[in-house]
Amino acid sequence: MKFLDEYQSSRLAAKLAHRISVSSKKPIRLMEFCGGHTHAILRHGIRQLVPRTVELLPGPGCPVCVTATSDLDRAIALARSPEVILTTFGDMMRVPGSYSSLQRAKAEGADVRVVYSTMDAIEMARVNPGKSVVFSGIGFETTAPTIAASIVKAQREGISNFHVLCSLKLTPPVMKALLDLGEVKLDGIICPGHVSVIIGSRPYEFIPLDHGVACVVSGFEPVDILLAISRLVAQIESGQPKVEIAYGRGVKPQGNSEALQLMEEVFRIDSADWRGMGVVPGSGLSIDPKYERFDADVVFADTLELALRNTPVIEPPGCRCGEVLRGVTTPPDCPLFGKGCTPEKPVGPCMVSSEGACAAHYQYGGHPSLLRAG
Ligand code: SF4
Repeated sequence: MKFLDEYQSSRLAAKLAHRISVSSKKPIRLMEFCGGHTHAILRHGIRQLVPRTVELLPGPGCPVCVTATSDLDRAIALARSPEVILTTFGDMMRVPGSYSSLQRAKAEGADVRVVYSTMDAIEMARVNPGKSVVFSGIGFETTAPTIAASIVKAQREGISNFHVLCSLKLTPPVMKALLDLGEVKLDGIICPGHVSVIIGSRPYEFIPLDHGVACVVSGFEPVDILLAISRLVAQIESGQPKVEIAYGRGVKPQGNSEALQLMEEVFRIDSADWRGMGVVPGSGLSIDPKYERFDADVVFADTLELALRNTPVIEPPGCRCGEVLRGVTTPPDCPLFGKGCTPEKPVGPCMVSSEGACAAHYQYGGHPSLLRAG
């Protein structure tokens, strides 16, 4: 296939759905570790195309959703500091922290600005030499190289008032933590396409080896996802789990060496606090000491300590995002879903973020397939 239309073709989708129906003999449970996949699965009605024996569960793959309340609290605390301009991606604005949100802090006078990339934040630092511009760095291996590049650029160009509040997370370690936890028995994993463009498919090899769970890296079009599911079903039915790439136009087994080198240069592996999972050792990135003048946690250590002292972390009451992110419950099973919690008045991050499972279920849950004819 060469053209995008082909990856959205209802004819190819029907062919793959038929193949899945014929080859799927026993009930299986698959988890997608990417909010983009969750969104695409619901938007294109893929759950209605596959047999009932194939259960599809969202996992901890939406960057805003997995950002811990404690990390939100740190961002809000820095935003309230008079010398700081806090920059962030738009989805983060409405996510509730323990006592406030970035949106509310802004309404109360904090200088919080939405940016589309870290380079916007660098530019803001350049034109505001009297302020400290802090970028709230959330996300996975997909965003880590661009944040690393911005730090290298700031170093090279002598922009000393640019800082990153680093809450970056790594996908394979949280996959391992979730599988080790064993709360949800998984037969296969739809591995994230964008993350795998950077890290490749090799870091997933422990999954079939140590856990006997099938793995296929998938793209984001409906035919990509159905192809990944059909390959997962084939692996599971044959009893031979392995790592496969069904997104060859984007992913190589070895990943992107340039991006990986950049990450290695700027970051070091650290523990990270995940919503729903808690602190997972080795599942995050922090800024290497040689770039510490760009590390907001170092530069503003006293400000953060003072602002957060004696302020316990409080999760949104009644919200079950943590369980949704672990695959233990589904969004419609949350008592607040569609009642106390909607995209207009979200209670938890899974309803705020455009990649959140609750938002995707609310927007698309249960509607028929949108796949194009032809
Ligand atoms: S529906 Fe709302 S309250 Fe319930 S888990 Fe999702 S975001 Fe949290």
